Amino acid sequence: MRQDLKASIGVIGGTGLYNMEGLSDIKEIELDTPFGKPSAKITLGRLEGTTVAFLPRHGRGHTIMPGEVPSKANIYALKSLGVRSIIAVNSVGSFKEEIAPGHLVIPDQLIDRTSKRDNTFFGNGIVAHIAFAEPFCPFLRGILYQAGLKAGASCHPKGTYLVMEGPAFSTRAESRLYRSWGADIIGMTALPEAKLAREAGICYAIIACVSDYDSWHEEKDIVTVSTITKIMESNVKLSKTIIRQAIKEMPRERKCSCGEALKCAIVTSPDAISPDIKEKLGLIINGYL
Ligand SMILES: [Zn+2]
Repeated sequence: MRQDLKASIGVIGGTGLYNMEGLSDIKEIELDTPFGKPSAKITLGRLEGTTVAFLPRHGRGHTIMPGEVPSKANIYALKSLGVRSIIAVNSVGSFKEEIAPGHLVIPDQLIDRTSKRDNTFFGNGIVAHIAFAEPFCPFLRGILYQAGLKAGASCHPKGTYLVMEGPAFSTRAESRLYRSWGADIIGMTALPEAKLAREAGICYAIIACVSDYDSWHEEKDIVTVSTITKIMESNVKLSKTIIRQAIKEMPRERKCSCGEALKCAIVTSPDAISPDIKEKLGLIINGYL
């Protein structure tokens, strides 16, 4: 990768966040990876003195549904640009009265209820088991939370994000069940992104924007599409302010162990790994065999 096509921070935009205003020296780049093409062209630009790589998860014009997001290509492409930290923005529903529409959550935990997604770079002759007890980078989460407070957001410092397959929303019975499990918010896109980022040694954290109460909430006044759209617009605006602020605060050196996720995780003997796999996964596994 050319030196002028490098970025240390990646931003993955969710529903409503298809562009990042305020970037300067913009370059649009089309990348191909061993795992196919990413969701869209990646926009490289300078923001607060740092080069940022922006990628809209659902494609420009929102053409990709959650179960179709090419997460392996997205994470690989960002890794190939030198990205070490990813700030992701996700739209979610809330399971708690006190986490109201318009609020933001910096989740610390995940429950995986997806069923059809390719969630690892490994397999086909190479096996690795990463630690995932803490699925988000605690250091990056702290920066995002502080940036949220500075931006004046109603921001929750932690929460359990349940990832459903979709694309239909949950039934009321499912919504009540997930609430009983202790989940705080529900969305469709945090996984497999978070797992793949960890395998790739990239710090990853989410700004989850609450657009509605999930279907457990039997409100008398039915929420209309226009109220949800209004809330989402202000959520997106707020998350952009938080991203800017977080980038300003991001230190050059990482103070976490995300970059070492593959240390001791690959269990396959190096002699048993085919040259093809070594080449295909080189960007991710080099230094760990
Ligand atoms: Zn980290």
